[in-house]
Amino acid sequence: MVLLPGRIFQCYFHGKRNSNKISLTFDDGPSKETEKILVLLKKYNAKATFFIWGQRIKGREKTIERIIKEGHEIGNHSYEHKRLTFKTQDYIFKDLKKCDKELLRLGFKTDLFRPPAFSIFYNLLRVCKKLEKKIVMCDIISDDWRKKGIEYSVEKVLKKTKPGSIINFHDYLEGIGPNEDIIPIIKQVIPQIKKKYKLVTISKLLEN
Ligand SMILES: [Zn+2]
Repeated sequence: MVLLPGRIFQCYFHGKRNSNKISLTFDDGPSKETEKILVLLKKYNAKATFFIWGQRIKGREKTIERIIKEGHEIGNHSYEHKRLTFKTQDYIFKDLKKCDKELLRLGFKTDLFRPPAFSIFYNLLRVCKKLEKKIVMCDIISDDWRKKGIEYSVEKVLKKTKPGSIINFHDYLEGIGPNEDIIPIIKQVIPQIKKKYKLVTISKLLEN
């Protein structure tokens, strides 16, 4: 949690360090890669959380329904996917609500929010408090969007994962398209971390 004078904001970088649980998270989807991720997760009996970019929902409703049906979780990742650091509270409120509304149209409600580019600022904290959102950051960035190579991401994640970790991946890359590196990366990562950890949704990771 982040503590600011007189107020407590719900902001999480990881879960409990004394558990055997970790969470895989996928941002900016859905995309055609999401369906492949779901197949792989099922194969390893792993659960994950998908932070949905509101503008990408239309036409991909079936994928979101499948995410939920298969026991995973979704979170709000804003509607327009703009950096929120210097936006007004009014802009942030409307943007988050718009993504929520799109998800509600499909019958899904979420109290999880991940800020685009992980940028947090006072206005965002205020709005999340008002909307009773848990801000989900991460303690491991896979760098799967930086084109440093599949092996680089695999090694980084395996080296840094520890109890309670929240790992950040992407099923879509802004300005590029579906993240075609994601399957080769998690194909190597999941069997390895499964040996030590239980892969659960964010809500499971954060529950008492
Ligand atoms: Zn994003």
